[in-house]
Amino acid sequence: MSKKKRILLELYRRLYDSFGPRHWWPADSPFEVIVGAILTQNTAWRNVEKAITSLKSLGLMSPEAIYNLPVRDLALIIKPSGYYNIKARRLKHFVEFLFADTGGDLKRLFDQELDPLRRKLLSINGIGPETADSILLYAGEKPTFVVDTYTRRILMRHLLLPEDASYDETRDLFMSHLEPCVSMFNEYHALLVKLGHTFCLKRNPRCQDCPVKGLNE
Ligand code: SF4
Repeated sequence: MSKKKRILLELYRRLYDSFGPRHWWPADSPFEVIVGAILTQNTAWRNVEKAITSLKSLGLMSPEAIYNLPVRDLALIIKPSGYYNIKARRLKHFVEFLFADTGGDLKRLFDQELDPLRRKLLSINGIGPETADSILLYAGEKPTFVVDTYTRRILMRHLLLPEDASYDETRDLFMSHLEPCVSMFNEYHALLVKLGHTFCLKRNPRCQDCPVKGLNE
């Protein structure tokens, strides 16, 4: 087993033992996961929850409903999530793609192979790699690794990545060293977010008390 693989497995084991299962993604349906993944860009989750609650209370949490809703009305409903005009357009772009590709059928969407489907999602205006991978993993149950700021920070601090590592380099580190496993990738990303929130802070990381202390030794 390579050293990097051993460290990545040890990191996962320590995080899981310390924090336990994170039960991600909090949503009632795959479409709600997709809406959350688009709305959470540059916004705290509590604000996304308000927008999702509004959509659900109005009976609008479905591809058909969003497809038929004028973008101006959608923007007003999701206003609590911030950047609401941009995010309303992004939601519309996604459902327009979904109807063009599969007639609005999420099951048919996620029946497609990971790599070509990922390329399709990345071609949608406003869907970047973190959003695409979140949709694929948490809504589509595809074995792709989601990378965020916390992931990069933690791996760089443990010298597993160079400081200028790109999104794809970071994702490739996990994808090339770990078996493709939806449940593990689901937990691993959620656990890294937890570590970034609690110990591996941007300033003054709490290394002395951290469950990951001494990982590379
Ligand atoms: S807080 Fe320190 S020990 Fe914990 S993950 Fe960050 S750099 Fe590593």
